[in-house]
Amino acid sequence: MKIKNLILTLCMLACLPAWAKDPIRVLVVTGQNNHYWRQSTNILVGYLNQSDLFKADVAISPPEKGNMEIFKPKFSDYKAVVLDYNGDAWSDETKAAFLEYVKNGGGVVVYHAANNAFADWREFNEIIGLGGWGGRNENSGPYVYYKDGKLVRDESKGHGGSHGTFHSYKVKTIVKDHPITKGLPEIWTHAPDELYDRLRGPALNLTVLATAFSAKDTRGTDRDEPVLMTISWGKGRIFHTVLGHAGASLSNSAIECPGFIATFLRGTEWAATGKVTQKVPADFPKQ
Ligand code: ZN
Repeated sequence: MKIKNLILTLCMLACLPAWAKDPIRVLVVTGQNNHYWRQSTNILVGYLNQSDLFKADVAISPPEKGNMEIFKPKFSDYKAVVLDYNGDAWSDETKAAFLEYVKNGGGVVVYHAANNAFADWREFNEIIGLGGWGGRNENSGPYVYYKDGKLVRDESKGHGGSHGTFHSYKVKTIVKDHPITKGLPEIWTHAPDELYDRLRGPALNLTVLATAFSAKDTRGTDRDEPVLMTISWGKGRIFHTVLGHAGASLSNSAIECPGFIATFLRGTEWAATGKVTQKVPADFPKQ
């Protein structure tokens, strides 16, 4: 090969996007949800595959009351598993495979109503940190929120998980130097969405990266509720976003918000690799 061609070839290799050789493999787990999971999964897979970083596959469970014994996603083939699932219990074999995957360093992204799932599965609740609904109460762990700038772990009795009216709200970055949040505006305006509140759970090894104020006038709690979190479990890294409600086709503002998209993609990369190489996009919402 002539030296000029060699230089050209090397340059072309160096200029190729990172995924051309080695995309980060991500599995989106879905198939049952109290949300429009076909739509949300399609949208999330689109974001991942268009991002130049990831290659996403989808594992679709049997429908509600179906034979869950046949649902055996190969978690260990992936660097990150995105949970868009809120439905029937997995088989013991699949539960064990998931825990083994996380214990060994697999990344997990908990997306919106995935934190409603499996209220009675102790290890799952340790992995998601906080959850809601499904009969969660004081036995599930404390409420976790910010009040007057301080992190509160509130052991009081009561139902876990609710939300007020659908509305646009401001997200406040609490941890500014985490790879997921580094470079994001300290306060940014999220498109109309549900704002989950009264989440409770084991909250072990949990870091609240960002909160949103849940105002009384939107039927909220008058507290700063966690909206972006990280958790560690075994060697696994978990990114938990409560954002991104997916409704009927005309009410997808939340999952289409550039703030949701960017934090979802950054959180997925971090869960998979421990790093974030993505720039904050120019269309990221401002205050
Ligand atoms: Zn929702």
